[in-house]
Amino acid sequence: MTAIVVGAGPAGLMAAERLVTMGRHVTVIDQRRSFGRTLLLAGRSGLNLTHSEPLDDVLDRYGPGRPQLEPMIRAFDPVALRAWADELGVETFVGSSGRVFPVGQKATPLLRAWLARLVEAGVEFRTGLAWSGFVDGGISAVDEDGSTQELRADGVVLALGGGNWPRVGGDGSWIKILRDAGVECVDLAAANAGVLVDWTPKHLADFEGEPLKNVAVSIADQTIRGEPVVTRGGLEGGPIYGLGPQIRDELSRNRTATIQIDLLPDVSHNGLGIRLETKRPKDSVSTYLRRAGIKPVGISLLREATGNRLPDDRVGMAALVKAVPVLITAMASIDRAISTAGGVAWSAVDESLQLNACPGVYVAGEMLDWEAPTGGYLLQACFSTGAWAGRFGRGESDVA
Ligand SMILES: Cc1cc2nc3c(=O)[nH]c(=O)nc-3n(C[C@H](O)[C@H](O)[C@H](O)COP(=O)(O)OP(=O)(O)OC[C@H]3O[C@@H](n4cnc5c(N)ncnc54)[C@H](O)[C@@H]3O)c2cc1C
Repeated sequence: MTAIVVGAGPAGLMAAERLVTMGRHVTVIDQRRSFGRTLLLAGRSGLNLTHSEPLDDVLDRYGPGRPQLEPMIRAFDPVALRAWADELGVETFVGSSGRVFPVGQKATPLLRAWLARLVEAGVEFRTGLAWSGFVDGGISAVDEDGSTQELRADGVVLALGGGNWPRVGGDGSWIKILRDAGVECVDLAAANAGVLVDWTPKHLADFEGEPLKNVAVSIADQTIRGEPVVTRGGLEGGPIYGLGPQIRDELSRNRTATIQIDLLPDVSHNGLGIRLETKRPKDSVSTYLRRAGIKPVGISLLREATGNRLPDDRVGMAALVKAVPVLITAMASIDRAISTAGGVAWSAVDESLQLNACPGVYVAGEMLDWEAPTGGYLLQACFSTGAWAGRFGRGESDVA
């Protein structure tokens, strides 16, 4: 039995590994000249492979995608993922936040060992071949010289990534091909991405790149603590990424979204009121606010939020400090997002991840319609769905 895997990222390579282990003849193609480039990019900032929290908590991170992903993640869970890395000779460790990293935190040793093992197992790799559609019994792919080839196999796994970082991974162009083939897809959107805010030139000149340390960011009854960073375009960082689904939701309904930032989440309203009680006659407003424990970047944020018309009473000031409104005009571009929301709809695949509209074609990884926060959950789901899609043809009946 033969299989073609399109896309040599974590999902595609894991599918290839499963298939070759079952004795299939496997060919992996990728449009790039080298493999696993998104994985290598991820390794530049410390490759977070998975998370060590209890499995139920891990599963909760996938939100509405949990029911569909759960059997796949249970079948290849964080413990199995660590054991797999270990077998490749890549030791992992649990960081202080519970996140799991390979020792050294880089992707290169893992990818190198993995590719070598796959080649040894008989997987054939072809670079510079871009999947362009389906033909009877297989797929068509365009070579770097522009010529089209037809490749046939008993089964195909598509693992084309999301639509983010088109220079290294997928560019999302697959969505049109799949829709034309009758596959239901949800529009791609930036996930784990920054947001756009119209900062004044002064705020940017003084605080671009500065984190708002230990604040709590809220929208739509969700609050996440952390350190959003002021960027040229707006805000980035953990709490912004984590609130992405709620921010996107509000943007799609109202065209803008407003988050509230509590600059002093460990101080109660009353406590803050007491801190703001005494303003010495000679104090500037900034000195008075600094004395209450607010950092210069926070004070500047208060000025941004009010058009520099700060409340002159302490009750109003305390209310503002506990919920600084920040108007978001849009999500930052998908090109620089860490991941992609949307993709192949769950209703378009069966339990084995086979496309209902294209029998014999399976999908895996980020091109499926799920999303998760950063913390290793993205790679975990890519590995798990890849392993799941790579199980096809296990029974007596082969795929068409
Ligand atoms: C900067 C950054 C940091 C990250 N850090 C982490 C992290 O620490 N932890 C974590 O869990 N996740 C992280 N991620 C996310 C993680 O890297 C991705 O979720 C994961 O790589 C997606 O795997 P995938 O196999 O689905 O797709 P990809 O890894 O994107 O692979 C898709 C492959 O398909 C190929 N392809 C696309 N279209 C075609 C076509 N038409 N024909 C042929 N080939 C095609 C691409 O060239 C690519 O090789 C990070 C992402 C980024 C951008």
